[in-house]
Amino acid sequence: MKSISLIKPYLVENRIVIFWGLVCLITVDFLQLCIPRIIKWAVDDLTALDISTGKLLMYAVYIAIAGILIGVFRYFWRRFLLGVSRRVEEGLRNQLFSHLQILSASYFDQAKTGDLMAHATNDIMHIRMAIGMGMVALTDAIILGAATIGFMAYINIRLTVLVLIPMPLIILGTRFFSKKMHRRYTQVQAAFADITESARERFAGIKIIKAYNRQKESNTKFDNISRDYIEKNLKLVKITGSFFPLMIFFSNLSMAIVLFLGGRQTILRNITPGDFVAFISYLELITWPMMAIGWVTNLIQRGNASLDRINRILKTAPHIQNRKDARRLTAPDGNIAFENVYFTYHHAEQNETTDKRIPDDDIRRWVLSDVDVQLSKGKTLGIVGPPGAGKSTLLYLIPRLYDVCRGRILMDGTDIRKLHLEDLRFQISFVPQEPFLFAGTIRDNILFENESVDDKRLKKACKSAAIYDTIINFSQGFDTMVGEKGIILSGGQKQRICLARAFLQDKPILLLDDPISQVDLETGSVITRSIKNMSREKTTIIVSHRLSALNFADRIIVLTNGMIQAIGSHEQLMKTNDYYAKTYRLQEIEETFNAS
Ligand code: ATP
Repeated sequence: MKSISLIKPYLVENRIVIFWGLVCLITVDFLQLCIPRIIKWAVDDLTALDISTGKLLMYAVYIAIAGILIGVFRYFWRRFLLGVSRRVEEGLRNQLFSHLQILSASYFDQAKTGDLMAHATNDIMHIRMAIGMGMVALTDAIILGAATIGFMAYINIRLTVLVLIPMPLIILGTRFFSKKMHRRYTQVQAAFADITESARERFAGIKIIKAYNRQKESNTKFDNISRDYIEKNLKLVKITGSFFPLMIFFSNLSMAIVLFLGGRQTILRNITPGDFVAFISYLELITWPMMAIGWVTNLIQRGNASLDRINRILKTAPHIQNRKDARRLTAPDGNIAFENVYFTYHHAEQNETTDKRIPDDDIRRWVLSDVDVQLSKGKTLGIVGPPGAGKSTLLYLIPRLYDVCRGRILMDGTDIRKLHLEDLRFQISFVPQEPFLFAGTIRDNILFENESVDDKRLKKACKSAAIYDTIINFSQGFDTMVGEKGIILSGGQKQRICLARAFLQDKPILLLDDPISQVDLETGSVITRSIKNMSREKTTIIVSHRLSALNFADRIIVLTNGMIQAIGSHEQLMKTNDYYAKTYRLQEIEETFNAS
């Protein structure tokens, strides 16, 4: 229930709209209650054969006016109350998204994307339903329910009590069935998610499936998932199929009681024929509030559970964030130093104050251990090493995507954990190993919200990344759409667009993770030349499996199992490090062979 504070500000902000929404809803309830009264007057006058055509017309007009007003006020309560629930939905979703954006990378390593999507869709929908339909069902259950019973009791108390006997069955039945329906509906949704994911995976991997001739197996697997979806749907239909007939049965049971006992009361002249007809109309009105009582408790329980889940995420503090006394960083030189840095993903959330808590078992799983290296402005550091050696991880630590577990990383002599996080990241251009493009145009992807850049700079960055000619050869040039609905780019094209994005940023620190892994030798050497030119005024760190890309680096480290095995210039390593020299010669032979 503590989570309720999450939606309180939205409800307080919209209190006037909620107030008028409830006024309209209660007006509709009241107007609905008036109609049986008008029918009663008309029937009583008709049975007494004491009515003129004019009076009959007047009753008809009353009912028509009530009908119109019900329509108008219903429109307004829906607009006001459901509108507020939509606004809460929008606010909560935005709040959740912006909070997720500030959570650290380690949070996303553990959280499942499917779960996050479910929070952003299902949980938020449950909260919206609990607020919107919850308010409506609760008001109708209390106001319409109590008023209808009052109107019925006014006609005949004994008959009212007898008629209400099947009503608790409607309340309990609705509660029981709506719980079951929700559970089965959730299973249907999960099965549907499986179908979508399975189809997506199969379409994405269609080339592999075809190449290995696995269409039949793929079909069988998909059929099984599809069958599961249908079975879950049929289970849901069984519940919904029995719910409505059962509710109609209980309602008809009350109708039978009214017909028999109410009819007798009419014969005995305890009530008038008009009262009898009105009673039947009230009976129709009371069914919904009874169902609402059963439904609203489930709605609120479900909404509350969802609110708790959203609240838990919003309460999760990012492991990496600014300290209260974080120092601003305006024009850094960009000198970087790793001082005895240790890191493990198992304790990515730990900071410098928690070294002692890391158990010995995890220490054996250090991804980086005792990394000690300095790099000053204008210098380039190359990193080489076998797959899984920790090269990418080392780069992640600089913009603080993860924090070191032991040791420190210094920027111009200050521990980066003491610097303002946005300022630190503002100094860095980073090209990750996996090139990532957002759905949009090539221009959007390169500018990356940096609208102030002129075409000349854009062109220069693209030329440096050896992608300019490719882009202008597309019929739409820089306005070519990429992503789901756009053209399909090759891995190398994507990689170069990501490089152009980084080159355009022109930041003092340049971090490149395997920047020429997906391009040919010639393109690779154009890019390497650009990096070399750019690196004169920057602090540059390049991870590369292609050692020729690092020839010009001032220093190169050979990383093995997270430890620096050797450090030196290209020439020094060729003489002193077996791994480096062997890899370099093998690649040289391969390159000569490819060129010939
Ligand atoms: P490659 O040359 O193949 O790109 P690398 O040297 O860049 O490899 P890293 O990607 O830094 O290696 O990975 C180092 C180790 O950390 C690997 O054992 C890897 O399995 C592990 N690792 C990487 N990312 C994560 C993560 N998010 N969570 C847990 N372990 C991870």
